[in-house]
Amino acid sequence: MYLNLIFLGAPGAGKGTQAKLLSEKLGIPTISSGEILRDNICRRTRLGLEAQDFVERGELVPDDLVVSMITSVLRLPAYQQNGALLDGFPRSIEQAKALTLALKTVLNQEIYRVFYIKVGKGELAQRLSGRSICPVCNTTYHDTKNPPLVTQRCNKEGATLYRRSDDTYATTLNRLQVYFNHIIPLVDYYDRKGLLEIINGEQSVEKVNSEIYQKLGEMARTPQLSLA
Ligand code: AMP
Repeated sequence: MYLNLIFLGAPGAGKGTQAKLLSEKLGIPTISSGEILRDNICRRTRLGLEAQDFVERGELVPDDLVVSMITSVLRLPAYQQNGALLDGFPRSIEQAKALTLALKTVLNQEIYRVFYIKVGKGELAQRLSGRSICPVCNTTYHDTKNPPLVTQRCNKEGATLYRRSDDTYATTLNRLQVYFNHIIPLVDYYDRKGLLEIINGEQSVEKVNSEIYQKLGEMARTPQLSLA
């Protein structure tokens, strides 16, 4: 049994958080294109050096770079059996087509469902401006909405939290603009394929998670969408 799910959502919509929660529940690994890019930038790999300027400006990294990055991740043993929870990829129609092809050719698998976690622009700008992250477990906190118990320390790991360098006000505005320019065609694309589920992302993390989980349960009971 495998399950390939895509999480679409603007920066700050909570797609990474939801992918991680579901990964813990279902035992399916996540693939976060943003995290892989940041790791490559940090390690100054060739991909990191090529991607750095785009990420720092809040622009999309060119499709060919991101597609070959994701395709090589899909070849790793961890993704061969249970599928993957994709966070932040695809972000364009080209990437979506390339993903379908890569899943087919590398793993002989298909996309099971696409969850669009929908949050309005005003709410997103507010969320991103107060965001900080644990460098060990990647848990996300917010200065006012979800502060850590001890200032600037992760509740689970005790590590000092950091702010992403692309969470600055100017870059955030650009990332949101870039995101909304690309999301509408992508949402339409998956809707036409009958794969789309829209989730109201302006609810608590727990409520969003239980809605996603419930939808998956309903689909599993639908014979033509059996998880087997
Ligand atoms: P995220 O962590 O998903 O918000 O991504 C951070 C940044 O990484 C984005 O603003 C882009 O510069 C880059 N990035 C992440 N995923 C992609 C993708 N699928 N295609 C192109 N660029 C991406």
